[in-house]
Amino acid sequence: MQAAVENPSAIRAYYEALADGVFLGAVCKDCGRYTFPPTGCCEHCGSWQVERAQLSGDATLLFATHNISPACHPRFETIAPYVYGHIRLKEGPIVQAIVLGVKATPQDLQRLFDRGPVPVKAEMLQMNDLPVLAFRVAE
Ligand SMILES: [Zn+2]
Repeated sequence: MQAAVENPSAIRAYYEALADGVFLGAVCKDCGRYTFPPTGCCEHCGSWQVERAQLSGDATLLFATHNISPACHPRFETIAPYVYGHIRLKEGPIVQAIVLGVKATPQDLQRLFDRGPVPVKAEMLQMNDLPVLAFRVAE
């Protein structure tokens, strides 16, 4: 139960690190796999023996699309329309995040699709109220 009590501090630590451009996950002492976002429990084997780990920020964009409806939260209206996608972190976990460096047009998304999975790099996107994890496509 002690690990569950640490959950709020894991979230705070995640956002404080993200504000500094550092990307945190959790690594399991039992199975060695990574959990993202970091929690007090391994998402692979259920172990509570996890510790914070800095992620490389290296990842692969697997799929991308754009928001055609209002943004999912008012904080994102300032950057809409935007691209988001499914991204596999080098460390393993797959996350959904905003994708930078691609215009939210059918033509740009088609070009991205034709390239196949592309490398992306994590980047902190500072919104008014919160740092947000985003990934930038290399040119
Ligand atoms: Zn594990």
